Amino acid sequence: MIEVNQPRDGLAASTGRPVDPEHPGPSGEQRAQLAQELAALDDVVGFDPAGALRQARVLQERAEALNDHEATVSALLWQAEASQRDGEPAPAASLINHVRDAFSPLSDEHTVRSAWLMSRVHTDLGDRPTALENVMDAVAAFTEEVPRRLRTRVLIKVGDLLDELGAREDSLIWYSRAEELATGDGRMHMLVVNNRAYGALEAGEGEEALHEAQTLMTLSTRYQRPLNADALDTVARIHLLRGDAQAAAKTAQQAVDAAQQLETKVADALPEYLLTLAVAQRELGSPEVAGETLKRARELCGPDAYARTKARILEEESEVQAALGDYKAAFETHKAFYAADQELLSQQREAQARARQTIFETITAREEAARYREEARRDPLTGLHNRLFVEERLPALVLDQVTAPGRLSVALLDLDHFKSVNDTFSHEVGDEVLRIVARLLEEAADRPGTGSFAARLGGEELLLILVTDDRAEAHRIVDGLRAAVEHYAWSTITPGRIVTLSGGMSFAVAGDTRSTLLARADSQLYAAKSAGRNRICAETG
Ligand code: GH3
Ligand code: MG
Ligand code: MG
Repeated sequence: MIEVNQPRDGLAASTGRPVDPEHPGPSGEQRAQLAQELAALDDVVGFDPAGALRQARVLQERAEALNDHEATVSALLWQAEASQRDGEPAPAASLINHVRDAFSPLSDEHTVRSAWLMSRVHTDLGDRPTALENVMDAVAAFTEEVPRRLRTRVLIKVGDLLDELGAREDSLIWYSRAEELATGDGRMHMLVVNNRAYGALEAGEGEEALHEAQTLMTLSTRYQRPLNADALDTVARIHLLRGDAQAAAKTAQQAVDAAQQLETKVADALPEYLLTLAVAQRELGSPEVAGETLKRARELCGPDAYARTKARILEEESEVQAALGDYKAAFETHKAFYAADQELLSQQREAQARARQTIFETITAREEAARYREEARRDPLTGLHNRLFVEERLPALVLDQVTAPGRLSVALLDLDHFKSVNDTFSHEVGDEVLRIVARLLEEAADRPGTGSFAARLGGEELLLILVTDDRAEAHRIVDGLRAAVEHYAWSTITPGRIVTLSGGMSFAVAGDTRSTLLARADSQLYAAKSAGRNRICAETG
């Protein structure tokens, strides 16, 4: 029975993380500085995603040099957000999956942030139902530890998605929740109202949209924060919707000015604002001026990029030409618009398919990794869980004893005179015996939802962990297993020989660790062997 001690030591020795003497831990000051610089990316990522991506990569290296896992995860998630905002959903998804694989369990903040980012990725791919699932996962992970701004963004995202999915009434509830959290934070508060305004605009609800636009203005005064270009464009479009071209032209001009000042690097922002301005100018009865504005918008689009904006510009150019009385040109331009629009649709479909493929592959890779993980925790001969699994699982169950004492029992089992089974028959027969006993053991452990499990610790030494309130029941289960082994139809496997096992049981009490628990089970096993084998001894008290 001495060999039982050795595995137990093995179990105890593997506690805790290895300490790397080269990296005794980041200095508090450097860590704080890094956290601050990472947090500052929040102000950059929205209008300069490419710049934020570069900075986040540099910060990731610093985090890794400091061995600072939290900061590394932050830096990776900023890269994911920057990629997503820069129109690259597939690399964003890969980064998020990588973070989830390599750094779990994530902090509450990172759990929420990664789910929210996944939601944005799925939105980009046009899969709003999945996006909604993801963002609801983010909501489910809310705790006080999650920064207010992030929680606000999540709630806004729920509102946006519900709105886009046609559940406008519900979306308004989520926007109000977001607004509650955002009140006092000018930037976020105005973001909530801007998105709600945009929803009303898209729904064609002129009065509602106007009301939101007015709220935006009020907030702008209250927080002494000018409307950003995006909000100005929303307001301009609301004026257009309501037929107030004059106000629309004025506001759209402000959006254009604001965008130029900011040198915004978000792909098609400025041409979009110019487009709004052109529509207003045409409706004001100045198609020539509108034509000039469109020309500027088209030039800003460059030769290849911004296909969607370019198509919309063509569409508006056709309107302008018609307003100028040049119906032939208007017709030709409209045809060009139609072609561009179709081309865009097919490109979009292709891009979505490619991005989906990439995401699918990373998911498959994750599943494969999970399978290998599972395989590494199984014993190949019997299919039972192995020692590694026990090392990982048992401590958590022992810890649970602090909150629910008296529920955990451990049975160490050992085949009787197994060496002579091998010697009398063969090693192959011995293996078959082990497989049969393993199957009976699995049946005894099959108590779904309780956390009970069976394992092979090595050799012919087995473990049965039972989670139950009732010690007598645990004892009955283990003795039932002993009897099942004894009464198995061994005659075909080991003619003339009955295989039996012995077991020792211990029951967790407050203050137990897995070593004390296993040591007491081991003593009981020793007692069972000494008392003549084929029996279970359990501790009393
Ligand atoms: P006791 O009743 O005191 O436990 O006697 P025992 O013979 O079972 O004890 P001992 O520890 O001396 O022998 C264990 C034997 O288990 C030795 C080895 O041949 C056998 N064994 C260990 N692992 C395997 C295996 O994977 N397959 C087979 N066939 N036999 C194994
Ligand atoms: Mg043994
Ligand atoms: Mg044995």
